[in-house]
Amino acid sequence: MPDVQLRFLGCGDAFASGGRFQTAFLLEGGEEPLLIDCGASTLIALKRTDIASKSLGYIAISHLHGDHFGGLPWLVLDGQFSDRTRPLTIAGPPGLEARFRETFQALYPGSIDSERPFEINLLELPEREPRTVGPATLTPLEVTHSSGAPSYALRVQYGGKLIAYSGDTGWTDVLFEVADGADVFICECNFFDREASGHMNYRTLSEKTFNCGRLLLTHLSDEMLAHADLVELEMARDGETIAV
Ligand SMILES: [Zn+2]
Repeated sequence: MPDVQLRFLGCGDAFASGGRFQTAFLLEGGEEPLLIDCGASTLIALKRTDIASKSLGYIAISHLHGDHFGGLPWLVLDGQFSDRTRPLTIAGPPGLEARFRETFQALYPGSIDSERPFEINLLELPEREPRTVGPATLTPLEVTHSSGAPSYALRVQYGGKLIAYSGDTGWTDVLFEVADGADVFICECNFFDREASGHMNYRTLSEKTFNCGRLLLTHLSDEMLAHADLVELEMARDGETIAV
């Protein structure tokens, strides 16, 4: 079995802190790639790599905030203007289809219903039900983050490996379940010691022990990056690829 690779296309917060792109992770080495989250800047991040957006067939979305799903319209339009033919399947929380349509309509009125040479399949995932989506099996667990719809952490079985991702969340014991047995756990750590509803800080996270392999921190704000020399956990970097 080929090695599974995890590429951090974007591991910044919503505000481009440190010049980082919004959230997007790419899994490769399984049957075919899987994109996890698609923040508004994801098409830019993709175009800095050798990956054509039209080659991506499957996307998993953790929650319906712009820095996690807002890049979808551009990914679709880029496919439309680059002769994409393969279907695009997007899986995410309940409410995905309505929010996707509203976002698309606000940005490019009428485009959502224009004819295009490929299908878009939107799958709304119920919590805690494993679902096979292309090359992966996704198990969503609800976490603590207000997004107008359930916000999910994702357990992603892919290429014989288990990749866990917290999504955006304040501290919740659900994260022990999310990370349990994972080869890699990507955990949001927006802040260093600032308390903010719906987001994690390093002081809290660093007191926890997870039953997982490698732990990497993502969704890093300016305040977190300013304390990088005090952080003993591994922080992801844009453009970095790791073996899972
Ligand atoms: Zn976010």
